[in-house]
Amino acid sequence: MYADELKQKVTLLKGIGKETAKSFAKIDINNVSDLLKYIPRAYENRKDTVTLSNYRMGPVNTIVEITDHDYIGFGIKKTLKVHLKDETGSAVLICFGRNFLSRKLVIGKKFFLYGNFEYKFNNLQTSAFDIEEISNKPVNFNKIIPVYPLSAKLNQGIIRRAVSEAIDELARYTKNQIPEYLIQKYDFVVRNRAIQNIHFPESLQLLESAEKVLRYEELFYLQLTVGRKSKETRKFHRNDFSHPKKLEELIKKQLPFSLTIDQEKVLKEIEKDMESDIPMTRLLQGDVGSGKTLVAFISALKIIEFRGQVAFMAPTELLAKQHAENAARLMEKLGVRLAFLSGNVKNSQRKPLLSALAKGEIDLIIGTHALFTGNVEFKNLQYVIVDEQHKFGVLQRMALLNKGDSPDLLLMTATPIPRTLTLTLFGDMDVSIIKTMPEGRKPVITHLSIIDNDKKVYDAVRKEIERGHQAYFVYPRIQESELSDSLKNAESMYNYLREEVFPEFRLGLIHSKLSEDEKIKTMKNFVSGKTNILVSTSVVEVGVDIQNATCMVIEHAEHFGLSGLHQLRGRVGRGREQSYAFLVYAKELSEVGKIRLKTMMKFNDGFSISEEDLKLRGPGELAGSRQSGFLNLTYADLVRDFDILEKARTDAFKILDSDPGFLKPEHTVIREVFERCEPFKGALDNE
Ligand code: ADP
Ligand code: MG
Repeated sequence: MYADELKQKVTLLKGIGKETAKSFAKIDINNVSDLLKYIPRAYENRKDTVTLSNYRMGPVNTIVEITDHDYIGFGIKKTLKVHLKDETGSAVLICFGRNFLSRKLVIGKKFFLYGNFEYKFNNLQTSAFDIEEISNKPVNFNKIIPVYPLSAKLNQGIIRRAVSEAIDELARYTKNQIPEYLIQKYDFVVRNRAIQNIHFPESLQLLESAEKVLRYEELFYLQLTVGRKSKETRKFHRNDFSHPKKLEELIKKQLPFSLTIDQEKVLKEIEKDMESDIPMTRLLQGDVGSGKTLVAFISALKIIEFRGQVAFMAPTELLAKQHAENAARLMEKLGVRLAFLSGNVKNSQRKPLLSALAKGEIDLIIGTHALFTGNVEFKNLQYVIVDEQHKFGVLQRMALLNKGDSPDLLLMTATPIPRTLTLTLFGDMDVSIIKTMPEGRKPVITHLSIIDNDKKVYDAVRKEIERGHQAYFVYPRIQESELSDSLKNAESMYNYLREEVFPEFRLGLIHSKLSEDEKIKTMKNFVSGKTNILVSTSVVEVGVDIQNATCMVIEHAEHFGLSGLHQLRGRVGRGREQSYAFLVYAKELSEVGKIRLKTMMKFNDGFSISEEDLKLRGPGELAGSRQSGFLNLTYADLVRDFDILEKARTDAFKILDSDPGFLKPEHTVIREVFERCEPFKGALDNE
């Protein structure tokens, strides 16, 4: 449905003036096509009768006769009470603010009535109802009516009339967008019928059919695009990797430990992908501390050995820097040419760096999102690694991929991604999992403590530091009076801990408002053991890896989400020593807050924790709206419609197998989907 007719302005429709058009424009409805895509959030079934006696079964939908009027209260505050009856019983309408209804609801007259009733004060009653005089052509009765999301000055009446007008005048211009044989295979209704029924269902069955085809259609086109992407083959000839893996052997020899079985397995999976003609899209899942980074580094050596370039992107400067230092420690001896890039690298250094990168004189560049900014050029980017991938948008990842000629992509995450999302965004994605932790790790022991008991926590930490270990203290706020709440903040607590609690130790403070130089200095001091305690905000959440730190104190733990808490706790327990997490909470704990803290006590692994997280938030939050919100789908929901998605995927991929050029500009649904869908903008423009 992309016919020019549907692109006409809504003011063309009868009854829509300039003012109403303005209200529509506020919710991005400008033309008829937009209006037809404004789908109801619910429906009211005013077709099937539900009598007063059946009020427990749902909203009552019946024909009533008015029997009496009276009032509750006195004077201007009095409220009209309308007594009525249907075949099965009697009830009362409480007409708050609608005393004028006494004129319309004349005793003895008959009306259609719809509303949710409850039994209260000896009466079956309601104050939320819709009523219409009985007639042969009722406006809002004897049918299933749509309930639209409201905003601005729009009410149900205005929207219903506008949509109804649009359907009567223009829905016939919508064309089927799915190949005929698929329409037959699934017994789909034709598109204009679907559009009509998604707004004004002739029956519940037809509503279901309409939803089915529109959801399928949207997902089908989504899959055609991702499918085409995932079938892309390399445009250049791949290196012949048949030589011995010299660098890999060398790095393994240097390590003070051997790789875990899972790390070896994942490395093999990655190497196999690299040898294929189809670019790799692989997700590496593994709990915090499972050793993903090392796997990524080793896999990079394979590319580097054959003179390809590798980009390694991390979400924070702190983390990128740490990776760069580790990489330098491990790889410089092997002759790997390394560079670090972030927004804070000064121009005098950046210029020669960028030119070296463009000339191919850098093998591995590690950095933040600065890596995909405009002036960064590679000579031969073959491999892109993204750490903590959930911290990046799809767009950002694509921007980096576009710096090479279909490079391999490795995404790393400690948070499992729902399969619906991997299917949608990548057509599919191979997943590697590291389940086993490096040998000798002990699970972190987690203690809960109420805020008044913090002295005990401080004493426990003191003992650990006296043994030569280090500790993190994490707070939800950076500074005082940042927000008007009474939460502890890192800056004041740094002073307090330093002066009052741990005068014998050295403390460091880190948060996002400090300058880069200060942050670097603070981290260096903590890494080298010069400082015993690092006071921080959640900036240390991702990736920071200091094995000698054995205590993680999180104050106001109730203010962190489950995955945040898990990530923070993952900063300790990274070496052979026993580590501890202290979750200090305030007295007033919400139910969810309690469950979160208990979950942290009960589970140590990220998979169980993210499962609990999913339960607490509901799948919509995690997979549907939050993670894929940017897809902005009109009809489909990635969680609810998973089975449709899989069908659409199979169908779309089959088509692409026999006809790779199937997707044509005249397949206009896809334009509609993609105009609103960031990651795919311009997807058709290179036809
Ligand atoms: P992740 O990124 O998965 O959270 P890291 O890659 O940061 O984990 O690794 C955590 C720590 O474990 C690092 O200090 C790393 O050197 C160490 N490590 C990695 N692999 C092993 C192994 N096989 N045996 C022992 N320690 C390992
Ligand atoms: Mg990591």
